Amino acid sequence: MTAINNLISLASIDEEIKEIESSRGDLPSRIKKLEMEKDQGEIKIEELNSELSNFEKKHVELQRNKDDFQISLDKYKDQLYLVKNNKEYDALNNEIDVVKKNLFDITEELSSISENKDNINEEIKLSKSNIDEKKAMLDKYSSQLNNLMSENEKEYNNLNLKRKQLLESMDKSIVQRYNLMLSAKGCGASSVIGDACGVCYTTLPTQLVTEIKQKLEFKYCPSCTILLYFEE
Ligand SMILES: [Zn+2]
Repeated sequence: MTAINNLISLASIDEEIKEIESSRGDLPSRIKKLEMEKDQGEIKIEELNSELSNFEKKHVELQRNKDDFQISLDKYKDQLYLVKNNKEYDALNNEIDVVKKNLFDITEELSSISENKDNINEEIKLSKSNIDEKKAMLDKYSSQLNNLMSENEKEYNNLNLKRKQLLESMDKSIVQRYNLMLSAKGCGASSVIGDACGVCYTTLPTQLVTEIKQKLEFKYCPSCTILLYFEE
């Protein structure tokens, strides 16, 4: 009898817990989703920053090469005034052409890197403002949830404590079955309504209803297998 009464208490506690939780609406799941999106955004910014720093390193390196080539070019141009014959002049001009070609290539590469850096900076800016929006929404929802929770936090904690104590005194296999149903159907046990199961509304055999009322052992709905009890 005590075991069945414990089950009835548990079911009624869970009803109350469910009511409080549903008063919070979808705030907890919205908050969870926003937190996840915010974390993902922050990871993305980290990745973009590391990409940016790679481009910056490359930029510095190329700029250094460009300066070196520019120095060579100036040097060759000065030497043009000192050549003694056509052969030397042609050789020097060939060198100048090679350096000019290199300078052109490097300048092209530098401008493509600048473009990439601009794009990444733009993307970082967008991601940051996106994260700021999410943070603002998170603050709003969190304070809404806190207000809702502070109203019935004490009651909610008490219910959970009572639940924990009840579970400890109950038979493990019954608790397992109860919890399984709780997560599958939203309730772990159901009261008999009239002579029908309170979950699937199947009419129960008269003998079963009598046994449930006797509270001698745990009884299940033959149709949906939920634990059944009788509420006086
Ligand atoms: Zn049923």
